[in-house]
Amino acid sequence: MKTQVAPAATGASAYVDEYWDNLTDAELLSTPWYIDDPRSLPNIQEIIPANLGEFQVEIEYRRDPGDSPVRCAHCPHHTKHWHGFVLKTADGRRFLLGSHCGPKAYGADYRIASNARGRKKKRYEALVSWLRVRDVLPDIADALADLEKDASFKAVRRARAKLHRFAPSMIGRIHQISPESLTQRRRLQVAYSERDAADERRRQEEFEAAALAIIDLPNKQHRLKMEELRQRFRPGQPTIVEVQRDLGALPPMDWLLTGNAPDGIVSDVAARLRGYVAVSQNTDVHPTAMIQRWTRDAKSDVALAVAAVQRMRNCGQFFASENLRSIVEWDVRHPKGAIGLSAHGPTLVAKGEAIALIDEWTPPGDQFLELASEIAP
Ligand SMILES: [Zn+2]
Repeated sequence: MKTQVAPAATGASAYVDEYWDNLTDAELLSTPWYIDDPRSLPNIQEIIPANLGEFQVEIEYRRDPGDSPVRCAHCPHHTKHWHGFVLKTADGRRFLLGSHCGPKAYGADYRIASNARGRKKKRYEALVSWLRVRDVLPDIADALADLEKDASFKAVRRARAKLHRFAPSMIGRIHQISPESLTQRRRLQVAYSERDAADERRRQEEFEAAALAIIDLPNKQHRLKMEELRQRFRPGQPTIVEVQRDLGALPPMDWLLTGNAPDGIVSDVAARLRGYVAVSQNTDVHPTAMIQRWTRDAKSDVALAVAAVQRMRNCGQFFASENLRSIVEWDVRHPKGAIGLSAHGPTLVAKGEAIALIDEWTPPGDQFLELASEIAP
C-alpha cells in the first residue's frame, strides 16, 4: 500500500515506515525474509554505537547447524549467535544482533522496527496463501460449471422430479426421516405378518394321511378320532407368521430434499469463486484481514462443493436396483404404504406405469475433486 510519509517525521519510525509501508504487494512477494549467511551482505559493522539513530530490522538470519555462529554487534566480547536479525540504518550500515539482543539494546525503537517488519511479513504470508488458492479457483469454477452439464447431474435432477411426481407418498415417508439422519446411513427394517403356505400344505397333507389310516374304525370311534386330528392338524386354517426383516442400509438420501439439493450448491459456489477472483485482482488496495478472509471463505466454499459433489456421487447407490427394491419394499410394507409400487432394475413401477429413473450412472466430479484437493484446508 502506497502511503505518503510526512517529511518532518522524527525518531526511528520515519525510516522504518518509509521502508516497509512503501512496499507494494508485488515487491513484498519478492522480499527475502531469511538469510543463512548474513556476513555476505555489504557494509556489515563490527560494533553497534550507543546511539544508532534511525534503523530498521531488515532480515532474519538462521545459521545452518553445520556452519559456525556469527559475532554479535551488541554483546560484549562479540558473543556468537546462531539466530538473530540484521539491523540496517538509513545510511546503509548493517549490524548483526542475536535474536534476544536487539530489544535489550534499543527497547522501544527496536520493537517499533520489529513490529513494522512483522506486519508486512504477516501480509506477505497472507498474500502467498491467497495467491496459491486464487491460481486454482478459475479452473475449479470451470470444473463446477462443467458438472452442471454432466449427464449424471442431469439424471439426478430428472430422477428427483420423477420420484416427487410418481412416488410422492414414498418420498413423503423418506422426508419424515429427519433431514439430519438422511445424511447418515440408516437401516431399512420392516415388520409384518404373512401366511406360511408351506406349513398350511404340510398340515393338510399330514391330516389327510392320518385320516386315511383310520378310515376302517367304527363310526363313533372314527368321529372322535377325526375330531382329535382336526384339532391337531387344523386343516384349512391359515398359518400366520410374524416377520421381521432387515432390508439393508439406506444410502444417504438428502439429495432428495430439494431445499438442500447438491446441484444447486454447486452452481452457487462456482459463482462465488469467480467473485473472489474478480474482486482480488489488485490486492494492494485491500487490507491484510480481507486477503486472509478471501482465503478462508474460498476454501470453505470449495469444501462445501466437495461435500455436495460427494453427495451426488452417492446417488449411484440409490439407483442400484437392489437398493431401489429394498426402498420400495420398505415403503410397501409400511402400514400406509403405497399400493402398486414396485421396482425392476433402475425402473420404478407406480400404478402399473414403468418409470425409468436413470439410463446409466457414472459418478460425476473426478476432475473437480482432483483440483479441489490442491487447496484442501
Ligand atoms: Zn548478542
